[in-house]
Amino acid sequence: RMDCDMAASNGDLMHTYKDLLTSNKRGERATKSLRRKSWSPSLFVLHLGIKGTWPGIPHHMILFGPRYKGLLDDIYKNGVLPQDFSLYLHHPTVTDPSLAPEGCSTFYVLAPVAHMGKAPLDWDGDVGEALKERILDELERRLIPDIRSRIMTQFHYTPADFGRDLSAHLGSAFSLEPVLWQSAYMRAHNRDDAIHNLYFVGAGTHPGAGIPGVVGSAKATAALMLEDANR
Ligand SMILES: Cc1cc2nc3c(=O)[nH]c(=O)nc-3n(C[C@H](O)[C@H](O)[C@H](O)COP(=O)(O)OP(=O)(O)OC[C@H]3O[C@@H](n4cnc5c(N)ncnc54)[C@H](O)[C@@H]3O)c2cc1C
Repeated sequence: RMDCDMAASNGDLMHTYKDLLTSNKRGERATKSLRRKSWSPSLFVLHLGIKGTWPGIPHHMILFGPRYKGLLDDIYKNGVLPQDFSLYLHHPTVTDPSLAPEGCSTFYVLAPVAHMGKAPLDWDGDVGEALKERILDELERRLIPDIRSRIMTQFHYTPADFGRDLSAHLGSAFSLEPVLWQSAYMRAHNRDDAIHNLYFVGAGTHPGAGIPGVVGSAKATAALMLEDANR
């Protein structure tokens, strides 16, 4: 606890209202309203440190799966873990080899998955392990045939980790879904409507998730706080 003239929260919106403003009526009301909103999907991210270098694999790559709309429907609407996936492959050592020991590489592989409100899966149990194996099968088949024997270090990050580590509501990786009715003025305001010295910044606020979005929201919130402070 500390006294302050102004506070800005960069935490998850729901976490801020539900867990940090527990004894406040505004916290209760905002929590109720946020429960009715639609939240962005989550991610399964497999991080790998492997032996060998791959100058032919670019820094960013997408390995498209066989389906497009059906896959998005499974993630956004149906809340099931599909048997297929489209993977984003991140390969930073092709740009900056100092990120791994000499002769080694780092990758992360990202698969969008439904958030835990839509698909309450046992991520800490078999589900995460099984998805990891399926992703390695796909990398083996399409990119690095002997990848398993090259792995020196690995870990995976699931919707449950987003919830646990970052207090992200439902394990969502991108906060409120950026649909029209949750965008611009209809997204969380940079200054709370009821508590006038409480501010928000980050993915849940205008203009939204993603690095350019959160930097934009930081600028907007900082400007608002300076304006209020100088009043
Ligand atoms: C794997 C992955 C890849 C991505 N790739 C891209 C990309 O290529 N391009 C792009 O534009 N965007 C990308 N994004 C999205 C982008 O990273 C996020 O939208 C952005 O980082 C969100 O910023 P933020 O400040 O809102 O939240 P965060 O970066 O999550 O920061 C919030 C911080 O608040 C802390 N916190 C929470 N509660 C409390 C509390 N009670 N007390 C103290 N601290 C607390 C959390 O621990 C966290 O450190 C990616 C996201 C992921 C997960």
